[in-house]
Amino acid sequence: MNYDTFFANALSRLKHEQRYRVFADLERIAGRFPHAIWHSPGGPREVVIWCSNDYLGMGQHPKVIGAMTATATRLGAGAGGTRNIAGTNHPLIELEHELADLHRKEAALVFTSGYVSNQTGISTIGKVIPDCLILSDELNHNSMIEGARQSGCEKQIWRHNDVDHLERLLRAARQDRPKLIVFETVYSMDGDVAPMHRICDLAEHYGAMTYADEVHAVGMYGSCGAGVAEREGVMDRIDVLEGTLAKAFGCMGGYIAGNSILIDAVRSYAPGFIFTTALPPPICAAATAAIRHLKASNWERERHQERAARVKAVLTTAALPVMPSETHIVPVLVGDPERCKTACDLLLTDHGIYIQPINYPTVPRGTERLRITPTPYHDDMLVDALAHALVDVWARLELAPKSWSAAAE
Ligand code: PLP
Repeated sequence: MNYDTFFANALSRLKHEQRYRVFADLERIAGRFPHAIWHSPGGPREVVIWCSNDYLGMGQHPKVIGAMTATATRLGAGAGGTRNIAGTNHPLIELEHELADLHRKEAALVFTSGYVSNQTGISTIGKVIPDCLILSDELNHNSMIEGARQSGCEKQIWRHNDVDHLERLLRAARQDRPKLIVFETVYSMDGDVAPMHRICDLAEHYGAMTYADEVHAVGMYGSCGAGVAEREGVMDRIDVLEGTLAKAFGCMGGYIAGNSILIDAVRSYAPGFIFTTALPPPICAAATAAIRHLKASNWERERHQERAARVKAVLTTAALPVMPSETHIVPVLVGDPERCKTACDLLLTDHGIYIQPINYPTVPRGTERLRITPTPYHDDMLVDALAHALVDVWARLELAPKSWSAAAE
């Protein structure tokens, strides 16, 4: 049997659907972010990155790099195994204390990624609670979908951010049945925000637990960077807050924060925690440095919001189809997978601008887009150059400026 045929067929299906992904070979320049070297087929070239989820540029912050290198020098590179086998490195304990304090919860538990924290966190919570009903927002991230699936619990999906629909589902469920509502606070492809007060009201009324993914909010919202729940004053009303160390905190890893008994149960039962090597000490120390810095400093948060508003205004003035977004994320609609990819290719080769195309299944078909993420370090010159490049590409590909409203109809 020629097994390669299976793989070749799988790949050609993706290519046929214009969903085959290609990633640029990049080298970020620490200290000069968002500038990077692109190792292009024609040789190395400097480009500007406009799609990084290192939203605040903390990956290049001197305190973060300093903590990472100093810890690597003192403790070495790796963690030396799972916590089950090798114990816990002290920087990881410090990181968990910092996270619990950030979210004003009794405890926090760190995983190797935000993905794993959702997958193993939700599935373990669901398994531990007998007959739990999981109520999941329809646009939840794949890691949450997998967590719910692996829990083996019954799952019901509520229409995106539609609390009336959520209430109907809650009302229909047996009153004494345990329920877990899972949702994101910031939805990263459209940049919209969950109605958190209403969700918490419903959870309290119907006796449900709440699990909120703050991956696209931690570091960036709230006076200490604890996320949208902090900004909205509902942190104490959410049972489990989940976040990443890989986006606004500029490092890697994920976590959940909640009360001690819940965290201890997940620590004791979650396969994605027990059976994998712990986060290395240098990464833990770097993440702790980023969290501590952003707890005290508002400069990054304020400048980030100001830059995002500026990009939206400049692109809108240039008649580009900027999709509505309440947050730092600036989606620009293309509405076709092939032209989305070509637009990104032209931006990179002809304008030295790197934006990754966002196609199905990350977003629904027909809403393919460029997902632009301004950081505090994208200055006015870079914003103007971006607008100029997009206008040029839109004209060359004959993309309609009004295509956003057309697709929405
Ligand atoms: N949750 C959401 C909403 C995400 O968008 C992502 C990744 O982009 C994750 C979780 C996974 O986080 P991580 O990148 O730390 O694995």
